[in-house]
Amino acid sequence: MTEEIAAVNPAPSTEQKKPEIVAKVEFITWKYPPYCELCNVYFSGEPCSKTHFEGRNHKNRLHTWKEYQNPDSLPKNSKDVLCNICWKKMNTQLILDDHCKSPAHLKEEQGRLIVQKLKEDYRQLKESNKTN
Ligand SMILES: [Zn+2]
Ligand SMILES: [Zn+2]
Repeated sequence: MTEEIAAVNPAPSTEQKKPEIVAKVEFITWKYPPYCELCNVYFSGEPCSKTHFEGRNHKNRLHTWKEYQNPDSLPKNSKDVLCNICWKKMNTQLILDDHCKSPAHLKEEQGRLIVQKLKEDYRQLKESNKTN
């Protein structure tokens, strides 16, 4: 067997239910967060997180995100429309509408829900760590 299993939970399970994605207290000491709000992804190991936040994909999104935080910096005649889930610019509303139905976009939408839940979980973890 040379097949690699890239699952979040490496333990083989006979249960059919999905592994629940939960905040882990040992992850809060990472240099980078165990999830990325911009890219709608989460990480199961610190090296993954580091690779992601220092990687090109993330930096590209960050660039787009920053642009839209300050609308004055956008070109006045730009007709670009933004998908603010994927942080991708589209040329027309029609392209954006199509994009929003694409599997890639739907996957990002799912990811965002998980990341939002994780973010709140980690906020609470950090709070409770402080009071100890
Ligand atoms: Zn990212
Ligand atoms: Zn999208």
